[in-house]
Amino acid sequence: MKHHDVIIIGAGAAGLMCAATAGYRGRDVLVLDNAKQAGRKILISGGGRCNFTNQKVEPHQFICGNPHFVKSALARYRPSDFIELVERHGIEYHERDHGQLFCNDSAKDIVTMLMTECEWAGVKVKLRTDILSVNKVDNGFVLTTSNGELSCQSLVVATGGLSMPKLGATPYGYKLAEQFGLTVLPTSAGLVPFTWHAEQKARFEALSGIAVPATITAQDGTQFSEALLFTHRGLSGPAILQISNYWRAGEAISINLFPGEDALEKIELALKNHPKQSLRNTLSHWLPKRLVEALFEEAQLDKALNQLGHGEREQLAQRLNDWSIIMNGTEGYRTAEVTLGGVDTNELSSKTMEAKNVPGLYFIGEVMDVSGWLGGFNFQWAWASGVAAGLAV
Ligand code: FAD
Repeated sequence: MKHHDVIIIGAGAAGLMCAATAGYRGRDVLVLDNAKQAGRKILISGGGRCNFTNQKVEPHQFICGNPHFVKSALARYRPSDFIELVERHGIEYHERDHGQLFCNDSAKDIVTMLMTECEWAGVKVKLRTDILSVNKVDNGFVLTTSNGELSCQSLVVATGGLSMPKLGATPYGYKLAEQFGLTVLPTSAGLVPFTWHAEQKARFEALSGIAVPATITAQDGTQFSEALLFTHRGLSGPAILQISNYWRAGEAISINLFPGEDALEKIELALKNHPKQSLRNTLSHWLPKRLVEALFEEAQLDKALNQLGHGEREQLAQRLNDWSIIMNGTEGYRTAEVTLGGVDTNELSSKTMEAKNVPGLYFIGEVMDVSGWLGGFNFQWAWASGVAAGLAV
């Protein structure tokens, strides 16, 4: 049976980063993956340009049952460390809104960089390998795989989350965690569009393609101000993807279509200046006409501003500043960018990612109960947790 110091299951973002880090320390590292290609999620990330990190990464931008857990790894491997690596490999990149960094050319550059780092660090990567069983032995683990038996001293689980099953996402990491007695917190789709109820669909489907700036608030008070996009199936756009991480089934979200502005004040001012202007024309100066017509009744839109009572104007303003809506659900793992929940971080060391009760067993990346905001945060977590484990295995 072939023995390695370290076996990593999953040749994704976290697994490859961990492998290179451990390899440079002189550890004999093997990475196993059941896919035919390494880093498949990286390849499709950021619309093919990989939003590989963010200029400003802070612990509050991560959702985790134990909010302090992410601090240590994020402090020890910073965005500037990854940017330095990217620059060393001559990869050109640019900054978009909110500090998001993307490759100029292609996400393929990031995968090539990670594979090159692995090669330089002496790491072996074996693809198309199914893990059939894992057993703990005296000083490590024995793995039965579709390519034979292997043993290792340290085993790192980097199998990612459940999003995009088409790309080979599996719940294997959660099963392994449970096999070794670790708690797996309930999982759900995150960074995901919302879907309409049937009656909402009938009313709003025609708005598909309209994008407006908005502030969206979840029931727990979390708020994001970014673009809101209407789709055939429901609501999407960065503001919605962000808020989906904080939404639970059945909860309402509040949409402010006039972010930072008081809708009542605007309406009152319009009434003063143009009392005979119709409500339709007034609102259509501020919002797309189709959206205005879907939000309010025909009869009301046809009224002149001076025909609207004060209570009616207040109600209108309330709808514009605080449109409370209960969506049917989300598009689920099929289109989600991340998986919320996962291996309970209370059972892992925040410094090394090692299971507190199973020496030699590590969990890194998205398989853990750590999910970041949209904007490069999920990759930063993959890099940081991968490095933390890579320095410890
Ligand atoms: P992954 O990168 O998913 O890697 C897991 C690896 O484990 C895979 O190679 C898989 O084949 C392997 N594996 C799974 N099961 C098994 C098994 N049973 N046996 C062997 N191997 C197995 N985040 C950002 O920060 N910026 C972005 O621009 C961005 N864009 C995204 C776009 C899309 C469409 C999606 C779906 C996600 C995006 N994300 C983005 C999120 C990001 O891709 C993930 O958070 C990140 O890849 C997680 O890294 P990981 O190493 O934990 O898992």
